Amino acid sequence: MEGNDVTLVILGATGDLTRRLLMPAIYRLFVRAQWQPRHIVGYGRSEWTDERFREHLEKSLKEFAREDFERKSWKELAARLTYRPGELHAEHLQGLAELVEGPAIFYLALPPGLFGEAAEALGQAGLHREDDGWRRIVIEKPFGSDLESALALHRQIHRYWQESQVYRIDHYLGKETVQNLMVFRFANRFIEPVWNAAHVEQVQITVAETLGLEGRWRYYDQAGALRDMLQNHLMQLFTLTAMEPPAVWHPEVLRDHKVEVLRAVRPIPETAVERFAARGQYAAGTVQGQQVPGYREEPNIPRDSRTETFAAVKFFVDTWRWKGVPFYLRSGKRLRADYSEVAIGFREVPTHLFRQTPLEGLSANWLIFRLKPSECIDLYAWARAPGLQLNARHLVLSAPFRQDDEPEFSAYEQLLLDVVRGDRTHFLRHDEVEWAWRVLDPVLKAWQHGAPEPYAAGGEGPTGQHRILEPGHVWRPIGKLDNP
Ligand code: NAP
Repeated sequence: MEGNDVTLVILGATGDLTRRLLMPAIYRLFVRAQWQPRHIVGYGRSEWTDERFREHLEKSLKEFAREDFERKSWKELAARLTYRPGELHAEHLQGLAELVEGPAIFYLALPPGLFGEAAEALGQAGLHREDDGWRRIVIEKPFGSDLESALALHRQIHRYWQESQVYRIDHYLGKETVQNLMVFRFANRFIEPVWNAAHVEQVQITVAETLGLEGRWRYYDQAGALRDMLQNHLMQLFTLTAMEPPAVWHPEVLRDHKVEVLRAVRPIPETAVERFAARGQYAAGTVQGQQVPGYREEPNIPRDSRTETFAAVKFFVDTWRWKGVPFYLRSGKRLRADYSEVAIGFREVPTHLFRQTPLEGLSANWLIFRLKPSECIDLYAWARAPGLQLNARHLVLSAPFRQDDEPEFSAYEQLLLDVVRGDRTHFLRHDEVEWAWRVLDPVLKAWQHGAPEPYAAGGEGPTGQHRILEPGHVWRPIGKLDNP
């Protein structure tokens, strides 16, 4: 089996990512014999033994991979687990050399501020050298906190590692419905002719969460919604929607096309950011029947925090394909519903021949790639209304992404296998990261001043988001599934 000679080293193995997402993914791949690594080495500062590490992971798997957990496979996997305590210093990391033989993956499951330091220390310890097999390093988002820090991180990583060894994960790219954006676009003849400014009037990308901080206050209060969601996940959805069709399926060609879109985004004028971006911060309210505190009342959050928990931006892409079409992106916490979609709004037909019941200002055709609450493609269309009058009414042609009996693979399963196979298609190249920061830099600068607008938890977000819309446009309602 491909990749079964690989050693996986997890730095930050005692943390939340390892426990909740990484280890369940590794376990599922192992049980299905899709990837059975030779050896998994957990590394952290905590003075744990192998036994303690195994107990910790067994408990985690029983919680996060419950339906797949069975003793025999776990015993087999546990026998391949080792733990080594140590700091992120070259002298300590050198101790890993004796455990790492042949091809190896170094997974940085560390707080983002430590990525550069860890990559450098691994290099100083010589672990990046490919003398007896390939070496790859996996880095989690966020990649920097602005353009300057992203460039600094890039320089630090590349002191020892080649770009071809670096796998920058944005787990949205491992989601099957996100990958479907490309398949649906490029495998269907009928899409391409209408996928342009002549037919598309606007694009709305929404990632709405009901969740609040979930204990991530330390990171989140520094980051905010723009850095946490917009700069990476929503930017990926945006580039996959707006990019030109690649001529061949090749990671570099694909990523060239994504960068091309980012480079074509009309720069947001620093003096007019309020016309292109809006921010909010949740106040107390009721989310799905539950009273919740406001952001500033959350434990550990400063009472005067100016961190935004909602961010919306508008882009124009100055290409032949998209000139004049606004792309609206927004994401927020403590909103009405867990609701994520990429919605392509089409222009009206030139003449209305039939009486059409208007739909809250959203009367145009929409093609929707929905990620939440369920994964599906919805096409909003007009059709004859039953009755004695020749009227049109709205209907939604909805196709679930998967049938009930088809297994679901997590983004981490998908992406881990890609790292093992050396397929960088669904990982970010450094220039993609940098251009994404470049595009948002004027917004970040402007938001150093002033404060976000409060919005009641459980609603649709701040009213200021409407300010950035072009005349005649309205935001699609969050959480409303318009099945006829
Ligand atoms: P975490 O629990 O805060 O930290 C992971 C581990 O890093 C800790 O267990 C700790 O292990 C080690 N660590 C912390 N401070 C350190 C220091 N100063 N020096 C050396 N080691 C240190 O973080 P996480 O939630 O697992 O997230 C890890 C990465 O994954 C982050 O970049 C995050 O953005 C990303 N991510 C997380 C999630 C998630 O759901 N958790 C989802 C997507 C992406 P020791 O104390 O044993 O050294």
